[in-house]
Amino acid sequence: MSTGGDPQALRARLAEVTRLGQAGDLAPAREQARAAFRDAIAADEAEVAVEAGLACYALDLKLGDHVAMLEDGALLKPRLQALPARRREYGDLLRRIVISACELARFDVALAHANEACESARLHPDDRELALSLTALGACFERMGDAWQGERLMNEAYAAAQRVDEPYVRMVVLNNLCAVCIGRFHRLREVDETDARASIERAIAHALAAQAMLPLMPDPLFAVFVDGNLGEALLYAGLLDEAAAMLHDALARSRKGGYHAQTWRIACSIAELELALGHPEQALAELEALLDTVAAAEQRATLIRLHQAIYRAARTLGENERALAALEAYERLERERATRQLRAQSELFVTRAETERVRQEALAARERAQRFRDEARRDALTGLSNRRELQEQLPAQLLVAATQLRPVSLAVVDLDHFKRINDRHGHALGDRVLVAIARLLRGGLRQADVLARVGGEEFVVVLFDTSPELAHEVLERLRHCVDEHDWAELAPGLAVTLSIGLAHAPSYELDPLFERADRALYRAKAEGRNRLVVDAPA
Ligand code: GH3
Ligand code: MG
Ligand code: MG
Repeated sequence: MSTGGDPQALRARLAEVTRLGQAGDLAPAREQARAAFRDAIAADEAEVAVEAGLACYALDLKLGDHVAMLEDGALLKPRLQALPARRREYGDLLRRIVISACELARFDVALAHANEACESARLHPDDRELALSLTALGACFERMGDAWQGERLMNEAYAAAQRVDEPYVRMVVLNNLCAVCIGRFHRLREVDETDARASIERAIAHALAAQAMLPLMPDPLFAVFVDGNLGEALLYAGLLDEAAAMLHDALARSRKGGYHAQTWRIACSIAELELALGHPEQALAELEALLDTVAAAEQRATLIRLHQAIYRAARTLGENERALAALEAYERLERERATRQLRAQSELFVTRAETERVRQEALAARERAQRFRDEARRDALTGLSNRRELQEQLPAQLLVAATQLRPVSLAVVDLDHFKRINDRHGHALGDRVLVAIARLLRGGLRQADVLARVGGEEFVVVLFDTSPELAHEVLERLRHCVDEHDWAELAPGLAVTLSIGLAHAPSYELDPLFERADRALYRAKAEGRNRLVVDAPA
């Protein structure tokens, strides 16, 4: 049922969402936001759809509804991606999808999004994005069971966060570092007590550092996150009084804010606290009371903790059957986590290798095409520009010179009796002569001067910003240089000379200029070769 799909009605509905949200009615606010988001998509109202999607997503986040976050996130992602100005919000979305996907053990989705976020942050060098994206990737590894890789990535994230002048970024990284250290503690308790203990001490230090930034945070949700983590770390460190104060306070604020997922998490910590205080019965009752809700909401991390704690409480009470059932439930979740982790990682590596291969092939094809284009403009024998390149490049250069009435000279340079050289010494030697001439000409010109081989034994030289007198001098020097070159090195008795026809602008058009230079060349040949003739000005 759609209630108003035009932009104005949609915006009015979003204002109602804001009002409900501010009044603390998160669930009804979210339902309205979801409906508005979908109606905006159906009505093809791209702009309002993004606003509604963001509002909806923010409420999913507060409710800790990871299933909804994945669904809404998938709808929001392409719409936000289409707006380059909202790159940061897009990055935030990617990272939150990572967390939701981890929570639901969808590690394939989580890793793909975490990698996209990290790659984008490296592509547009941005320490803020890099810090937050590495944090998400680290959280992903921690949730997959690799707390070591997780902590390493987050320390890398923290290094990037320190280059950013934004307390929020440091707070997020520190809070996640705390969480990853708690995760490491869970893996190591009863396996390596020393490492477990050190991990929990690091967790406390990180949480305290994050706490120091809380007064600067706009949303009370952050404080609930950080204090909940700190309370949990204090509990595992055996600082039970401090833990109790921290956890009860955080629980009250979390309930007040309506942050369900955080509330369950903190309630689980409080039940564990009862166990630590020597009240296993109370602990067991509290833990079992949470079980169904947490399972239904697919809060996997909390669910694993619940089963683990129920196992310990039941064992303490000598209730072996309940303990075994909890242990089995815990084992099943762990096995599921491990399987999905392995599958996601193996798929990701395959996909990455595949992507890399395709990328390399595209790169090679582009290089081949470029080489082909370059070759089409090069003379294969001498490496100089060819006629085609000259015809493509020169008119524009001449036009620029024309608008500023700058001097331009064009010379046609032709080898004398080259046919005889070929006949006497062979075609191969003729080729070597052409290569040598190209080198001599290029060596006698400036970088900016144009030199092209336009026919078999014919070259064009174009000099810009050179007075006619100087151009004459330059070309005469080239002619002498060829005449005086030690050609006998190539073949005994070999001598090579050039005839040159020279014309000056105006005209600034290629064809008339070339024709005049060519006419002058004809005269140079007729007047006995090995000489330069200047075309009489038109
Ligand atoms: P002129 O002084 O009147 O220019 O005499 P010419 O022999 O140089 O002129 P002509 O146009 O009669 O002959 C040019 C010769 O250049 C003919 C051709 O075999 C040779 N030629 C053209 N391209 C190449 C090439 O790439 N390599 C070699 N070795 N010879 C070439
Ligand atoms: Mg010739
Ligand atoms: Mg010729």
